[in-house]
Amino acid sequence: MTILAVSISAANVEEAQEQIDRSVCQGAEAVELRLDFLKSPDEAAAAFLVKFVKEKDLPVIATCRHISESGAADWPTEKRLKVLTAAMEAGADFIDWEFAQYLQPAVQEMLTAALRRFQACRLILSAHDFHGPFEDLSARYEAMRTLCPGAVVKLVYTARHINDCFEAMDLLYQEKEDLIVFAMGSAGMMTRILAKKLGGFLTFTCPEEETAAAPGQIPIGKMKTLYRWDALNQQTKLYGIIGNPVGHSLSPAVYNGCFETQSRNALHLPLEIGGEQAEFNLFLESVLQRPWLDFRGFGVTLPHKSSALEFVHQEGGYLEPMAERIGAANTIKIGHNGQLSAYNTDCAGALDALTQTLGIEKKQLRNQEAAVIGAGGAARAVIVGLIDVGCRVTVYNRTLKKAQDLAEEFGCRAAPLEEIRNSRARIFVNCTSLGMIPNVDSTPVPAEVFGPDSIAFDTVYVPLETRFLREAKAAGARVVSGAEMFIRQAVVQYRHLTGVEPDSERIRQIVLDCLNPAGRAR
Ligand code: NAP
Repeated sequence: MTILAVSISAANVEEAQEQIDRSVCQGAEAVELRLDFLKSPDEAAAAFLVKFVKEKDLPVIATCRHISESGAADWPTEKRLKVLTAAMEAGADFIDWEFAQYLQPAVQEMLTAALRRFQACRLILSAHDFHGPFEDLSARYEAMRTLCPGAVVKLVYTARHINDCFEAMDLLYQEKEDLIVFAMGSAGMMTRILAKKLGGFLTFTCPEEETAAAPGQIPIGKMKTLYRWDALNQQTKLYGIIGNPVGHSLSPAVYNGCFETQSRNALHLPLEIGGEQAEFNLFLESVLQRPWLDFRGFGVTLPHKSSALEFVHQEGGYLEPMAERIGAANTIKIGHNGQLSAYNTDCAGALDALTQTLGIEKKQLRNQEAAVIGAGGAARAVIVGLIDVGCRVTVYNRTLKKAQDLAEEFGCRAAPLEEIRNSRARIFVNCTSLGMIPNVDSTPVPAEVFGPDSIAFDTVYVPLETRFLREAKAAGARVVSGAEMFIRQAVVQYRHLTGVEPDSERIRQIVLDCLNPAGRAR
């Protein structure tokens, strides 16, 4: 069973004790004492902290990292050895030592002698590359395993892109010996979480975001609640939201909350894919080549929605006619034998949000004048939806050419963004990113355009109430928030990806909880 360890990287003993206490409360299964972070690591402090953790009945890993592998200070080898020996004497279960240092015969001799004295303590033999993946991960692993067969081998490298994660996961999947392998940095995040599904020996977390000892470490609270650590096992099915950026996405909270409610053995991950179609394709191909990862589908957001449609098309998968018409897919399902299907749930989400929030039938939108502001992916879905129910649509966009292209494609009108102040539309839909955090003071529509008869629908949902909606409301208009669209498209997407109906009230509760300022602070 993979151990959930918390790395404690405090500057003094008192701070370390507080961090340990907080981590234990949150369910830490082991504690790594990063003794190199202490202002002045000494044998007494090491022994004291080891005993402090042992009193809580948890395994202890004592680490006093060499500066060449991101240790906090340039402590001499002799001092590091003394500190670790004191930790062993006090009952440490593991000590971590760098492979590069272990290669020095004198050091190896001293460590071997110490470990012989404290037979309950095991060596974690580690190697780190802070610049990128190792030149040959498997060869490095073999060399370390051969040199020290009884050790837990630990291999850590920096992922420059999410596609760098696969070799770490391959090694974990293939190797049956006790092994720790993961990728650092935000691009490597999934390797830390999936260590449990793939049978890794241990994964490292931190007490809180601010106390991370290494790039990309996930706070233990987030690992336990958002990423469902306790529910993960080899059979866990995987889902994710693909985009760039995805850090702000509500999808992991929504899906994982629903999985919890429905007791499903499943996990949803944020999957940030930098680059364009080539990087996107490589990620999907890598997933499809590894059915043992059990990825069952993805939500897709900016900037990959058209790449998603293109990929599924190239692979000969099913394209939902609506997604084809819109020219973008926000949902990819991986079915039996890797059979792909692409859908677009934004259009249904937008129309349902509009009609259900206003309490009207779709037919009541017939012949209404609608102004769609923006000409990107969201605008395409909204335009198709509005045209299908009989609205007369004008597309307003900063780049007029894009609005004109859309107008030609979908049979509507186009106008420059400045013309919005002369619009005679009743329905205004903001499909630009104006008003979204951090640009909360911007809006694409001057306040005087709205009147009591207007309907203002903002696709932006962070914040919940944008300036666009606030000004429309002040003019007496009826308003529809982007959250209403998000919730409804998520319901349809969940159904496509999992084949079961989600609890839409639970989704609403999670979304509103995340979006209200008190909720967001968590
Ligand atoms: P996109 O494809 O990048 O399109 C962005 C649009 O915004 C373009 O028309 C762009 O105009 C315009 N724009 C950007 N910055 C602008 C500025 N400073 N001034 C004027 N116009 C500007 O993005 P998208 O995928 O359509 O997403 C747009 C918004 O929809 C996002 O805020 C997203 O969160 C939201 N959305 C919400 C949901 C939901 O469920 N609620 C679903 C999907 C999307 P140019 O063409 O001139 O660059």
